[in-house]
Amino acid sequence: MTTRFHVVVVGAGYAGVMAANRLLVEHPDVAVTVVNPRPVFVERIRLHQVAAGSGAATHELSDLLHPRATLHVASAVRIEPHAVSLTDGTVLRSDAVVYAVGSISGAGAIPGAERAFSVSDLDSATALHDALRTADDHASVVVIGGGLTGLETVTELAQSHPRHTFTLVGDPGADLPAPTRRYIRRRLEELGVRLRSGTRVTRIDHDIDHESVELDDGTAIPAALVVRTAGFAVPDLARRSGLPVDETGRLRVRDTLQAIDGTPIVGVGDAVAVSGNDHLRMSCQAAMPLGVHGADTAWQLLLGREPAPLSLGFVSTCISLGRDRGVVQLSARDDSPTRWAVRGRLAAPVKEAVVRGTIRGMQLQARGRALPTRRGPDKSARDEVRV
Ligand SMILES: Cc1cc2nc3c(=O)[nH]c(=O)nc-3n(C[C@H](O)[C@H](O)[C@H](O)COP(=O)(O)OP(=O)(O)OC[C@H]3O[C@@H](n4cnc5c(N)ncnc54)[C@H](O)[C@@H]3O)c2cc1C
Repeated sequence: MTTRFHVVVVGAGYAGVMAANRLLVEHPDVAVTVVNPRPVFVERIRLHQVAAGSGAATHELSDLLHPRATLHVASAVRIEPHAVSLTDGTVLRSDAVVYAVGSISGAGAIPGAERAFSVSDLDSATALHDALRTADDHASVVVIGGGLTGLETVTELAQSHPRHTFTLVGDPGADLPAPTRRYIRRRLEELGVRLRSGTRVTRIDHDIDHESVELDDGTAIPAALVVRTAGFAVPDLARRSGLPVDETGRLRVRDTLQAIDGTPIVGVGDAVAVSGNDHLRMSCQAAMPLGVHGADTAWQLLLGREPAPLSLGFVSTCISLGRDRGVVQLSARDDSPTRWAVRGRLAAPVKEAVVRGTIRGMQLQARGRALPTRRGPDKSARDEVRV
């Protein structure tokens, strides 16, 4: 069949792969070029395992993308409504663009944090792994951030590298219910992780052979290695391209996922701010269905029709706490935690099944199988609460 339309998908993460596959499965007359800096998919939700040495996180994109997808290995440097310019000098003409460049580690406002390790991207997670392997015994490793990534990271590292000492700076699982927070603290204790809560990092000093994490209570933690996990940022491609962005650089899109300036650019995944959907946190749980909805929106725009608004709710927060413990906290549609949770040994295989399920989900979707999603929160009810 001859193709009527060409769509360029920028970024082959969870959202971009889903968007490309959906378009190709549903519409034989659409051609899709996927632009990504590597020929592999990086399973970011396993990057703490890469750092610890307890898992790998790359898959050939050819195993995940629909056979009709054209993969172009390069980075986009500028996006216009009908053209995407790449690092190798190519300019791809397009009828619609799907913006799916994801997120990166943000150094935040802490001086010196830009030189700390992170588990947000493959290169940094691999560098952390090498540093942990070659560090002297009893090296002090400080992980900054008590959010989900900080918890997964410090527990995975502590379990895999018992010869080092680990300190977590942050309030572990601050947004989770009290029984889950208590369980997490017990698990940190079990793994010998020292905890510094109720204090903030003010700066990280780097010397030739050691580092020092300065806290706002006037104390400092000497460190051989520092890992920052607090605060994700987004690539500045949308801002550099003159597209509408919020204060953090995320592409601003309507509730249909079309860019708010009305151009045929559709935004999906971590790199976008969706109007009226503040509950959508950066997660692969949101990125995958966003990719599917974004593909449907792109198709409607190609036909000159009005796309449908998104309705997307959360299901759970799944946290690994080392390879053999975890928490599965069930969520309301708006991502607030409910009182239902599985904690401990039983949660570990559930989390592992969820992580495997993301890859399997992409492969099945490339063959035309739809993923189940949950309807979003009832907006009228939320507005009533706000009033
Ligand atoms: C250690 C860790 C654990 C996590 N655990 C969980 C979890 O348990 N559950 C959960 O839901 N979420 C988790 N997350 C968050 C999750 O990984 C992200 O929310 C998810 O990856 C977002 O998907 P995405 O497709 O938007 O972006 P990404 O997966 O970041 O993909 C973006 C892609 O775009 C590419 N790209 C970037 N710039 C350009 C450019 N200029 N041109 C072309 N391509 C470009 C990137 O190289 C990448 O391939 C975790 C994250 C980390 C780091």
